Amino acid sequence: EGIGLSSGALREATALGFSVLPLFSYYSYHGPVFRVLVRVTHGKPHDTRDYGFISYCNKCGNSEGYSWGELGQMCCPCSNGEVSRSLVVSGPLWTGPLHDADYIGEMIKLAGELGWTYTEKGGVDLEKLLQKMLEESDCRLPFGYIKLDEIASRAKINSPPLSTMIITLQKEGYATSRSHIASNAIKTNCPMAMCIQIAKKLQQNQLI
Ligand SMILES: [Zn+2]
Repeated sequence: EGIGLSSGALREATALGFSVLPLFSYYSYHGPVFRVLVRVTHGKPHDTRDYGFISYCNKCGNSEGYSWGELGQMCCPCSNGEVSRSLVVSGPLWTGPLHDADYIGEMIKLAGELGWTYTEKGGVDLEKLLQKMLEESDCRLPFGYIKLDEIASRAKINSPPLSTMIITLQKEGYATSRSHIASNAIKTNCPMAMCIQIAKKLQQNQLI
């Protein structure tokens, strides 16, 4: 799922000629609340590709982002170029990175200086959380996340361990990280079909 960065407010801001860039986003289970710290500047958005539409295919589980211009040409790889009835589309929303890597880096440094690094609040370890956020801010990573349970149920296998799956995807050359939003989920630029293949291979090789 993508993050609906209060899309009403976002639309209003862009209509007024402002550009909104998320610096930091934090999802709290106790709410649930999604907090986003944004930088609002006057002028055109840095990259209009980051505002768009997200499709999710009910049939194969593939997710894809689309720009305004591509709205008419949505089709899932699983339907061989034909119009897919299995696509659910949401938007317009922010489909770019959730955090600004430089900003998170500064926060980690600051937390260290203030001696907050090993602070735990509400069962959340600050350093681990910031580290996850830093991984998530890799600009190659797409919006949203994939639950391992979804990969497992589509592959008809048991859920692979999170760390094994992440390391394997990275070895295969895909940008992959944990998600600070969902505990047993990954962010990756690996398409769902390939995630399924890799998870199956892991199972067969009994690497897990
Ligand atoms: Zn599909």
